Formats: sequence, C-alpha cells, structure tokens
Amino acid sequence: DGLERRSGRVPLQHILGTQEFMGMEFFVNAHVLIPRQDTETLVETVLNEQKNRNISVLDMCTGSGCIAVSLKALGGYARVAAADISPEALEVAEKNAGTYPVEFRQSDMFAAFEPGRDMFDVIVSNPPYIPSEVIRGLEPEVRDHEPLGALDGKEDGLYFYRRLAEECGRHLKLGGRVYFEIGHDQGAAVTALLEENGYRNIQVIKDAAGMDRVVRGTWPGQIRK
Ligand code: GLN
Repeated sequence: DGLERRSGRVPLQHILGTQEFMGMEFFVNAHVLIPRQDTETLVETVLNEQKNRNISVLDMCTGSGCIAVSLKALGGYARVAAADISPEALEVAEKNAGTYPVEFRQSDMFAAFEPGRDMFDVIVSNPPYIPSEVIRGLEPEVRDHEPLGALDGKEDGLYFYRRLAEECGRHLKLGGRVYFEIGHDQGAAVTALLEENGYRNIQVIKDAAGMDRVVRGTWPGQIRK
C-alpha cells in the first residue's frame, strides 16, 4: 500500500499521482520530474516580464509540461509550444494540458525545429542540470525514482546550457528572450555562456529562498547562424 511504498522512499507524489504547481494540479509519474516550487520562479519571471499576450513561447525539455501549461493558462500567450526527447514524458504533458492548446513536439533539443521557420519570441527551459557525480548523493526519492534523464546535466552540469546558448538564437525572433532555470551555483557560468553567444541584458534572478534560480537574456539578432 501507500505507506509501504513511502517507507521504501517512493516519492509521495508518485503515490498520489499529482503535484500542485502555480496553483494548478499536475499529473506525475516516474517518466517526469516532479514539479518543484523553485521552478515557479521561472514561470513568475516570464509572467512578470512578458505582458504582451500576442507572443509565441517555446518550453524546451518540458517534462510534465508544468511550465508550458501554466504559462498558457496564466499568461494566455497566443502560441505555446513544448518539446521533450521522451515520448513517455510527452504523454504526461499532454494529459496535463487538458483543454489548453499547447503544441507538443517530440524532439531531441532543437532537432525537430527548423531554424528560420519555427521562430519564437520567448524560449524557456528547465533542462537537466545536476552534474553526474552529484546525482549519487541525492535523496533516494530523487536518485532512485525520478528520471535520470531529467536531472543529469552531464560532467559539469552545464551540457544543456551550452546547447541552449548555442542553438536558441536560431529559433528566436529579433529581441526575443531566453529564460533558463539554473542550479543555485550556476549563475556565473550560464551568464558567461550567454555572453559568449551574443546575448545582451543578461540577468540572474533569485528564488523565494534567495538563491540564484533563473538566468534570462535578450537575443539581439543574427550574430551567427
Ligand atoms: N531542481 C532539481 C533538483 O534539485 C533539478 C532539476 C533539474 O535538473 N532541472 O532535484
């Protein structure tokens, strides 16, 4: 039963099947990262800065869909797309979208997006960002029950930020913005990656606990293809 599973360190959310995020209820299972309160900082930052509803938003590495669906529901943005490499995650995300029209696409990063054609005003992402070495030391609920593919940022934890910093520009309109969730100690490194790739207006934003949690930057134009 539930009590037995919980004492086996199965996350409570897997037993209940849901987690609240941004005041909404999201289905979860072992194929998706359980929505974290930290990630509300990412959604709130976008909602605060992007008041024009007539924009297009892409959520790269959507997992449960909590970011894309809450942005569609609370921001009312005209077009919200969401991508993930995992078909099992996308099944959960689609269920979470319910009647909200979010465009889901199975894609390994931007592989299924054509540069110059699939262009967005905003790209958000909470990619896997924990260094592989650090994962062994996580709580059993996370280490043994949440999907490794949603956590593992490879050697230095920055692998997906490198990819995002290099590739988002091909899918952003002029003056478009990126918003990435980061680990509390990754602000300087991710800022540097965005600077190297030509982003401007880079800012690190703190979460409710006062930890660095979000990096945002503005894409000024076609610095390179
Ligand atoms: N914040 C999550 C954790 O610490 C990690 C999320 C991620 O890698 N995107 O468990």
